[in-house]
Amino acid sequence: MNIHEYQAKALLRSYGIPVSDGRIVLKAEEAKTAAGEMDGPLWVVKSQIHAGGRGKGKFVEAEAGEKGGVRLAKSVEEAAEFARQMLGRTLVTIQTGPAGKQVNRVYIEEGTDIERELYLALLIDRQTSRVSIVASTEGGMDIEEVAHSTPEKIVSFSVDPAAGFQDYHGRRVAFSLGLKGAQIKQCVGIVRNLYRLFIDKDMDMLEINPLVVTTEGGLKLLDAKMGFDGNAIYRHPDIAALRDETEEDPKELAASKFDLNYIALDGEIGCMVNGAGLAMATMDIIKLYGAEPANFLDVGGGATKEKVTEAFKIITSDPNVKGILVNIFGGIMRCDIIAEGVIAAVKEVGLEVPLVVRLEGTNVELGKKIINESGLNVIAADDLSDAAQKIVKAVKG
Ligand code: GDP
Ligand code: MG
Repeated sequence: MNIHEYQAKALLRSYGIPVSDGRIVLKAEEAKTAAGEMDGPLWVVKSQIHAGGRGKGKFVEAEAGEKGGVRLAKSVEEAAEFARQMLGRTLVTIQTGPAGKQVNRVYIEEGTDIERELYLALLIDRQTSRVSIVASTEGGMDIEEVAHSTPEKIVSFSVDPAAGFQDYHGRRVAFSLGLKGAQIKQCVGIVRNLYRLFIDKDMDMLEINPLVVTTEGGLKLLDAKMGFDGNAIYRHPDIAALRDETEEDPKELAASKFDLNYIALDGEIGCMVNGAGLAMATMDIIKLYGAEPANFLDVGGGATKEKVTEAFKIITSDPNVKGILVNIFGGIMRCDIIAEGVIAAVKEVGLEVPLVVRLEGTNVELGKKIINESGLNVIAADDLSDAAQKIVKAVKG
């Protein structure tokens, strides 16, 4: 689960980590008062969406010369004007995809005079099962590009969880960033607190880009992206409360409400499968026969008729779906339950695309009977390969 920059900064502030003073603005009328609560002479007006690259982003239907989703203002009036321009508009960045994201909140911050922009991140390294710290002198820009063209400018190491964070970890970051004097001590404190926050809140990603050296010589975090482990959210009601459902894929959101493991993809064949392994195999075999899956969906072992109905509705709500493949191996999950769910869903939402059903395992005969007697136009398949070929043929002709 991700949160907005202003929410991340509130968390950082509560851990004693230096960020600028700022105000969140939801309505254009509030912008002037909010900006007026800070002294200036510089204000930063920042679109709040769950995507990076806002500064270099572009608004849909932008006027010639109009700047992106992060703008510097020289007066309260100008800050309020920028906030008014951003609210309600759609911002496209390299991370939003071509459709962009609507800006519903704007954060107005006290501007900082920057000497140098640096990069700092904490993330889970699944190879070592540890938290990795990543630092680079090349902050402010696209870190993927830095990793690609000048990988030597990125320093990364992991923290042994048994020993925990040690000051030398912080010093290693400070030296790799070329910090001097009092900055080194400040850097150690910041990295220690970031690590503490990361562990306390079960984060899986914390990216500060940029961390800056100000013209006064101190360190400050000007941007923050945070991701939290969805499986641990139940331990953090304070974090769960920060969830902004308007930022999430509506299909994935509906799926999460029904406890379905669903990930939207770009292809044309909707998949309903039980078990993550079988779901992956189904996606692979669809690709093998020349089409692309529209989603990953594992309905799980103990799915009810209601859950299956909901899963089917989510699949059909995707306009890219040109055909559906139901592939169920009934173990704990019974084939007749799946059959009833599919039929209930089709009756409710209709079926405008070809549907291939492959059932195997517990109560398979009953499941097939239910489908055959339903009068629905379902293409039956015998095994995984047969099912994949049939749905690809039905979609591609
Ligand atoms: P992003 O484009 O979504 O990553 O948004 P950022 O918050 O990182 O802002 C983009 C860029 O705007 C930064 O890399 C800075 O160069 C600039 N910027 C952000 N805040 C300030 C500020 O307080 N003062 C100045 N001078 N520039 C800022
Ligand atoms: Mg940034």
